[in-house]
Amino acid sequence: MDSQRDVLVIGGGIFGAAIAWALGRRGLGQRVLILERGQPAGGATSRAAALVTMARDDPALMALAKETFQAMAVLEGEYGEDVGRHTVGALHVGSASHAEALQARARHCASFGIDSHWLDKSQALARAPWLAPQSFELAAFYPDECFVEPYLLSSAYLRTATLLGAQVRLSSDVQSIGVMHGRVTGVHLTDGTHLPASVVINAAGAWANLLSTDLGLPLPMAPVRSQYWITEPAIQFPRDGAIVLIPEIRAYARPEMGALLFGVREKQPVAVNPRHLPKDLTGFVFDPDDADGWQNLGEGAQSLADYFPAVNTLGLAHYITGPSNYTPDGQLIIGASRAIAGLFVATGCNGSGITFSGGVGRLVAELVSGAPTFVAPEVFDPQRYGDIDPYAVDFLASCAAARAMKSSG
Ligand SMILES: Cc1cc2nc3c(=O)[nH]c(=O)nc-3n(C[C@H](O)[C@H](O)[C@H](O)COP(=O)(O)OP(=O)(O)OC[C@H]3O[C@@H](n4cnc5c(N)ncnc54)[C@H](O)[C@@H]3O)c2cc1C
Repeated sequence: MDSQRDVLVIGGGIFGAAIAWALGRRGLGQRVLILERGQPAGGATSRAAALVTMARDDPALMALAKETFQAMAVLEGEYGEDVGRHTVGALHVGSASHAEALQARARHCASFGIDSHWLDKSQALARAPWLAPQSFELAAFYPDECFVEPYLLSSAYLRTATLLGAQVRLSSDVQSIGVMHGRVTGVHLTDGTHLPASVVINAAGAWANLLSTDLGLPLPMAPVRSQYWITEPAIQFPRDGAIVLIPEIRAYARPEMGALLFGVREKQPVAVNPRHLPKDLTGFVFDPDDADGWQNLGEGAQSLADYFPAVNTLGLAHYITGPSNYTPDGQLIIGASRAIAGLFVATGCNGSGITFSGGVGRLVAELVSGAPTFVAPEVFDPQRYGDIDPYAVDFLASCAAARAMKSSG
């Protein structure tokens, strides 16, 4: 191995790729080696609905999301990458009783320079003809919001990172992170190889705890089932239709090649112990008794029909599911170990890792290089919950509950 490569990134999902890219942009590319045991973006990343939205209530998360828009502009403009971006804008719709919340969000976003304006009902329906006209009273439109092709965005980070000097090593299954005298020494692969390093960044997604917990760094998160459905194509789903967010029922939808992709946040999300998660997610089912997730929706499906009546008559062509890492407080997990020098972690996406990827990459690169950070990192501190047991049933339940509370934005 190239002895200069002393910064190891575990995981070639969108977080690992964005971190390598951001390190490369800071002139550190020649030091970076990404270790991926499967295919890049083959974990949660390629399964994402990939809404990329800045309009949120939490300023730290907005800052991360804004960075992703900056990163996409650089990838497209400077490197000619196609990230599959569809800037269709996002409609936030609600009943009169939800008006205050929608208005507060629009004001809050304006103070962060995020543009929005109100649409009347006919203007809103022109952007989302599938919405039942009587189902909403207010519609705020955020014109800059988009969705992307997650595999393309992740590949763009990775390809550009390699142009900037980083290397990717496939078939590299990390068994453990080496530590001696309070410093990382590198990683051990399952094939017996030891790769020395002075910096190790754990971006192993849903599997990150399997590498961290035994080092005394339990990560306050659990993989929780995320899911969405795609209808059959139909005339009421224009390809350039808007993303629609319905905070009252925690639902979202977006166009998908003449069909509608939608998700409704279910009442009782399913968390899984990461020890029971296979390395390859192909064919993995969270709940064998509810393989298409529909039962679990319960009243979510009923309330969705109020907004989207055709959901009861249209055929559903696809059901996509995968793990997202939820934390009890809804914040990501980004930072350094206090006990082990050179050990960093970046995970805990809370179902929005595509959206936050640019910010996660930048923040990790700043922390690793000791530069001032663009956002206060304390809120993302991996040790903020102390010495928890991330595999305990109660803890898994608290992470699942965090998904149930997540707003659709
Ligand atoms: C159904 C669904 C819908 C979603 N919708 C959205 C959305 O609309 N918007 C949004 O922003 N986000 C969305 N997400 C979330 C998004 O997909 C994730 O936040 C994001 O992909 C997380 O990226 P990651 O790199 O942390 O994890 P992953 O993509 O899972 O990458 C982790 C990588 O680490 C590798 N790895 C793990 N352990 C090891 C090891 N020991 N050695 C070597 N390699 C290892 C894995 O093989 C994997 O490739 C959705 C997720 C799902 C499942």
